[in-house]
Amino acid sequence: MRLELKQIGIIGAMDDEIALLLEGMPEHSVTASAGIEFRVGKFQSKQVVVCKSGVGKVNAAVCTQILIDRFGVDAIIFTGVAGALDPQLNIGDIVVSTECQQHDMDVTALGFPKGTIPFAELSVFQADPELVELAYSAASQFDGQAVRGKVLSGDQFVANRDTVEQLREELQGTCTEMEGAAVAQVCAMNGFPFVIIRSMSDRADGSAHMNFTEFTQLASSNSYRIVEEMLRRL
Ligand code: SAH
Repeated sequence: MRLELKQIGIIGAMDDEIALLLEGMPEHSVTASAGIEFRVGKFQSKQVVVCKSGVGKVNAAVCTQILIDRFGVDAIIFTGVAGALDPQLNIGDIVVSTECQQHDMDVTALGFPKGTIPFAELSVFQADPELVELAYSAASQFDGQAVRGKVLSGDQFVANRDTVEQLREELQGTCTEMEGAAVAQVCAMNGFPFVIIRSMSDRADGSAHMNFTEFTQLASSNSYRIVEEMLRRL
């Protein structure tokens, strides 16, 4: 690998998304910052910092910047669940981010295209190609579909067909969630490698709230398996 990964930051937004990681690192130290607990230890004999950011873009952004500034990690992997936008995707399938964008960045009233951050150089943030390939090839170990695609993030739980169609048409999203593009933007601002791995807990449609409750554990575990396999291969 071109990247030298001595210590890796791993973020999930919710307890379910990091539970299996924590089981795999029974001994670790805990440091709290901005109300987030950063767990430093070894997972798959690699040095890692695992944390639960909390839900939403602000939590994810703060968590990412702290990982970079205070813990000296070399790359960031996000593991978690998302709503599928691509109709080919089933619950449990994997999306590995090639790029991320905030779908709720909306300054269209002033003439900016949807999802565009005014006056910023970038609004679509590219994941590290090496981490993408590592995650994608790790995913091929397992049953179920894995695709590379665009992860859309916003501070909203998407749960209707119209929004799904709009997000696919306007922003070409593969899945939607609430943190990835914030992690991605902070990483881009710091020139820092990242990848977002998401397993589908729902289809972001009228059944999303029920599916989310039923399948978050399964999807979290599918996403976890990819991270575990990635670290094993490093
Ligand atoms: N913990 C709360 C809130 C979860 S919000 C609860 O249990 O009700 C949903 C979380 O899952 C976010 O972290 C988001 O990244 C992801 N997610 C899954 N499906 C989503 C969808 N359809 N729309 C937006 N986010 C989704």
